Amino acid sequence: LLRKMKYVILAVFVILLPMFVVDILGQGLPYFCKLICPAGTLEGGMPLVLMNQSMRSALGGLYAWKNLLLVLTIVVSILIYRPFCKYICPLGAIYSVFNPISVFRYKVDQEKCTGCGVCAKVCKMQVNPVKNANSLECIRCGLCKKSCPVHAIGEVKLKDEGVRHQAEKV
Ligand code: SF4
Ligand code: SF4
Repeated sequence: LLRKMKYVILAVFVILLPMFVVDILGQGLPYFCKLICPAGTLEGGMPLVLMNQSMRSALGGLYAWKNLLLVLTIVVSILIYRPFCKYICPLGAIYSVFNPISVFRYKVDQEKCTGCGVCAKVCKMQVNPVKNANSLECIRCGLCKKSCPVHAIGEVKLKDEGVRHQAEKV
């Protein structure tokens, strides 16, 4: 269920809030960057505060909140594989929906597959490629492909697709 959270964050903080909570000029704030994303704190906020003395007097609750999120993200990342990508990142959510139609897709050769389950066991994103080789959660790390003892996992070749389309037309 936690994995669905990134789609909710995408809808609420990246689309709906900036669209509907706007100032008198009709401009919405980048709510995700402002309230959630720890990358901005690490790469922008912290260097600015360290290098600019006058900025320090302007620090408030939001800066403390963003720092807390940054520390939490780092700590949880030590314990869980890619938690920010899995549960929070709206970019991850956008990219994931393209997995099933991506040019770079996987397929499992059912004739070669012995059902040993190694691929599902090694996948750090908890995907079972045999059930869904192009799951929304797959990050194409290639670990399953490398680990398959019978080399049953491979990329869908564009020419295979052409043949399939031709076959479907017939
Ligand atoms: S590791 Fe290969 S043979 Fe084993 S279940 Fe996965 S695809 Fe099939
Ligand atoms: S490519 Fe990586 S993330 Fe995708 S199913 Fe294989 S092991 Fe899992």
